[in-house]
Amino acid sequence: MRLLIMGAPGAGKGTYAEGISKHYGIPHISTGDIFRQAMQEETPMGILAKSFIDKGNLVPDDVTNKIVKERLSKVDCLDGFLLDGYPRTLQQAEEFEKTLKELDLKLDAVINLVVDESLIVSRIVNRRICPTCGKGYNLVTLKPIKEGYCDVCGSELYQRKDDNEETIKSRLSVYNEQTKPLINFYEERKVLLNLNGEGNAKEVTECIISTLEEIK
Ligand code: AMP
Repeated sequence: MRLLIMGAPGAGKGTYAEGISKHYGIPHISTGDIFRQAMQEETPMGILAKSFIDKGNLVPDDVTNKIVKERLSKVDCLDGFLLDGYPRTLQQAEEFEKTLKELDLKLDAVINLVVDESLIVSRIVNRRICPTCGKGYNLVTLKPIKEGYCDVCGSELYQRKDDNEETIKSRLSVYNEQTKPLINFYEERKVLLNLNGEGNAKEVTECIISTLEEIK
């Protein structure tokens, strides 16, 4: 399976992607995670990315396209992948199409998570993440068993610096202006699946997988 998962910030891309990639045994490639890792390691790319991410803006297309192209060329992507959070602009989508052509690969489906904007802010401000294994939690809908600590590896959970009400406003307007047009782009290519992202993690993941099974 070669898949993309897209949706507004807080739509649950990372949470559902985790279950889908496990189910199909394909790598879950999140550009946001790649940037956060680089920021933590303070690499030159991480330092550059931080200056955009902390303000709720997108990292420039040329930087983002390059890291995705490099990642997709790795051997673990030969049998498929799930890209989460990429592409986010029309330029990225066009560049991605070129990359797929060069690698002689075909996209199977684009999962577009549909979530009402009123839910998004509460989902984002309540989001917590494990710095070690990357598992995501929600203080209301997906609480860890022991408050503040990861169920899987026991690390202390953290809140992303860009998960605050101020930054969310710019992330949402960036999404509406730059990423939403990709819905049409992939609709025209007949690979778009619009799926409701509002249920709990287990229900939504199962619904996505059963829809993907139908198109296999
Ligand atoms: P995410 O974890 O997907 O919410 O991404 C966190 C932040 O990383 C975004 O708000 C952007 O600033 C940046 N980012 C992630 N993916 C991309 C992308 N495809 N293009 C540009 N910036 C991105």
